[in-house]
This record gives sequence, structure tokens and C-alpha cells, in this order.
Amino acid sequence: MKLHNTLTRQTEEFNPQSNDNVRMYSCGPTVYDHIHIGNLSAYVYVDTLRRTLQASGLNVRHIMNFTDVDDKTIKRSLENYPDLAPEEALKKLTTNYADIFLNDIADIGNDVFSTEFVYATNSIEGIRQLITELFEDDFAYITDDGVYFSIEKYRASGKKYGQLLTLTEENTSSARIANDEYDKDYVHDFALWKVKKAGEPAWQFDLDGHDLTGRPGWHVECSVMSVQSLGQPFDIHTGGVDNIFPHHENEIAQSTAGKGNLYAKYFVHNEHLLVDGKKMSKSLNNFYRLQDIKEKGYDPLAFRLMVLQSHYRSQSNFTWENLDAAQTRLQGWRTVADLRWQVVDNDSEISFDNVSAAVTEYIEVDLNTPMAFATISTEFMDELNELGYLPNNSKKSFIDFLTKLDTLLGLGLLDSNDINPQQKNIIVERQKARDAKDWAKSDELRDQLKEQGVEVRDTDHGPIWSRI
Ligand SMILES: [Zn+2]
Repeated sequence: MKLHNTLTRQTEEFNPQSNDNVRMYSCGPTVYDHIHIGNLSAYVYVDTLRRTLQASGLNVRHIMNFTDVDDKTIKRSLENYPDLAPEEALKKLTTNYADIFLNDIADIGNDVFSTEFVYATNSIEGIRQLITELFEDDFAYITDDGVYFSIEKYRASGKKYGQLLTLTEENTSSARIANDEYDKDYVHDFALWKVKKAGEPAWQFDLDGHDLTGRPGWHVECSVMSVQSLGQPFDIHTGGVDNIFPHHENEIAQSTAGKGNLYAKYFVHNEHLLVDGKKMSKSLNNFYRLQDIKEKGYDPLAFRLMVLQSHYRSQSNFTWENLDAAQTRLQGWRTVADLRWQVVDNDSEISFDNVSAAVTEYIEVDLNTPMAFATISTEFMDELNELGYLPNNSKKSFIDFLTKLDTLLGLGLLDSNDINPQQKNIIVERQKARDAKDWAKSDELRDQLKEQGVEVRDTDHGPIWSRI
């Protein structure tokens, strides 16, 4: 398996540090609202990476966090539940959106049971410990509004700040502006802990004789949640490209200050999903959630397929036309998958070995899903569509191949059932009517099936049905 590692800017052979066990951490959602389809696309790629690692024989421990305390969650919880105590309001808001998130990602085919979810508010003790250590080792300092990490001290200890990207005025300027309001020694210094403002939820924290009752900064939450679950260094850290700086850079700094150099061995980042070629934003009116897609009658798995048609390191483009095409493609694949219920007994045989090997090969080289999809379409679906039936001799290898596709891609091609005995009977009766040249009856039976969502076409090998 090869993966592009942001730390080295290279596509490298992936080797877990401990035998066949992979430890992977993914930055999860900030649970203050519904997530948009851009965020969802990131979780499709993460799920596909986990599937691919597992399919290659590795055991994967995958942790994803919920950021359930930060500026946005606090602000929204106080707005939505002004009558509740701040801690209760926060809990109510974040639990609700965490549940919605889990439903959304399950809808788009992610295997939520293969991921362990951790909550920032359950990790406060570990966060206080890390901040205390950083303070005692002189990497952190206290101000009126919180505790900050000192980039200067970190650098003076021989460490590099700017491991994931080369820092320039341009690529750090937006983060600098956001930080200007803070009282700190150096413009890049970031908050490890923020002292409570009136009416905010807060956790007790005494450091060096100061009462710092308040809440953790965002970056330190991920440093603690990842290492508490996985140890340090762990194998893979994932996130969107917008997490590279400052979030992941800051995670590296606070996790390696006064310690070994390595926090995570591979950093894997996905590119943004654009909508109509533009960055998604509420002001451009191109901001969609999964609910919007479902309300228009699209299958959430068509969205998954659309996402995977693009490589995770390329910007992909959501348009309704693209989603429509993806839904048609998915429908076509399902129709082919339904051939397994109606094999034809003759001497022909089709081998799926080559296409199966090709799909694995593409996916295992930095998750090349676009090439895998192209191969599935041309060397598998088109061929079977042309033949129009599945020979009995090929049924086992066909199902093995579909199982592999479902394992790797999560499109649920094997989820459909056979048609029911009554429907099968109608097909038999229709054939009899045709043999007797009773076209009226044959048409009537065809229409009956159509009403039940089943279409029949007549081939040299008998009638073959598909779902409409
Ligand atoms: Zn994170």
C-alpha cells in the first residue's frame, strides 16, 4: 500500500510501526450544526482508506473525535438553549448533532462500527495534564485570558515549526489575523486553554497558583485524544487540507515539545469538494447538506460514488448533473449485480480475476479510486452488460468480486434481494403467453411487473429482469 504523506511531500510505501496493526486518527466534526457535503466527502475518503488498509490484511484501530467544546459549540448552545445551565446547553446541542452526524455518515455508506468515537469533553483531565507538562517544561505561558504555547521556545529546543508546509507570510496570514486579538508573545502562539467568559461552560484548572477555570483550545484536544487512544507516535493522521495549518502543525508542536520528534508517521489530507466550481459558502447559496440531496430523491450512496470518482487529493466538483450521472452509474452497477439471481446455465465462463486484481492495485496506490472505477466500468460492467447475462459457471467468482467491491468501496452492491416468488411466477406466465403469441396477456403481465418496479427484457437466453 502506498500513501501520500504530507510530512514528506511524497507518496511512500505504507508500513505500520507495529506488525500488522495500524493506528489511525481522524479529525472529526465540530458538532454545533449539520455538516455540509464537503465535510461528508472527507469522511467518505477516510472510510475508504480504512477499508483499503483492512482489505490488505491489516488490523486497523480507527479513532475519530467529536469537537464538542470550542467557540462555535459554546456560542450556538447559548443561543439555542438560553434557559439551560451552560454545561447542559452545550451537552444538549453537541449530543444532538453528534447523533445526526453518525446517521449521515452511515447513510453515505461509512461503517460507523469500525470507528471508535471520542469526545473532547471526556478528555479534559488528559488535556490539563499535557498543558501542565508543557508549562513546567517552559513551552507554555499564562496570560490574562488563558495559556499559550510558545513557538519561540519550541524552536529554541531544536524543533521545527512548519513541518507540514513551509510557512510563508501568505499561507499563514489568515491564521495571524484570527489570532491578533490575543495577548501573547509571538504572533503564531496559539491558545492551549482559554479562561472562561461570563455565562460560558467551564472546567476547573489550577496552574502555578492561577485559577484558570475555563476550557481547552481546539488543537490541544486532538493531541490528547489521539495519543490517549493510540499512543505516540501513531501511524496515520487524517484531515482536510484546511487542517494542515494551523491545526495539525500545532498538534505536532504541542505533542513533540520536550519529547521525541514524531507525533504521527503519515499525515493524509484530502482536498476540498467544490460546488458548481466554487468553494461552498452560505452567501453563494451553494451550501448543501445530505438532507438536501435526499429531499431531491437521490440515493446517499450515489453521493458516495460521485465523491470516489475523484481522487482524494484533487478538488472534486459537486453539481446536480454530476450527482445525477453518479446515480445512473450506481443504478447500472446494481442492475449488473442483480444478474447473480438469474444465472444462465450454459458452457460460457467469464473470469473476474484480472479486473479484481486491477482494482486492488489501483486502490492500493494512494487510493486511486478514479482509475479503479474506470476499470470496473470498462472491464466489468460493460462486458457483462454486453453479454446480458451471467453464466452459472461464473457465479462464484462474480459474487467474490462484488464482495470485494463492497468491502473496498462501501456501495452496497450485494445489498439487494432477489425478486419474490410471485414476481418470478409472473415472468414464467408472461413467457408462456409469449410462446402462445398471446401478446395482450404478455403486455398486461409486463405492466404488472413494471408497477412493482421490475422490468423484463427478452434475450436469447430467456427473460432477464432488472429493477427500474
Ligand atoms: Zn483535529
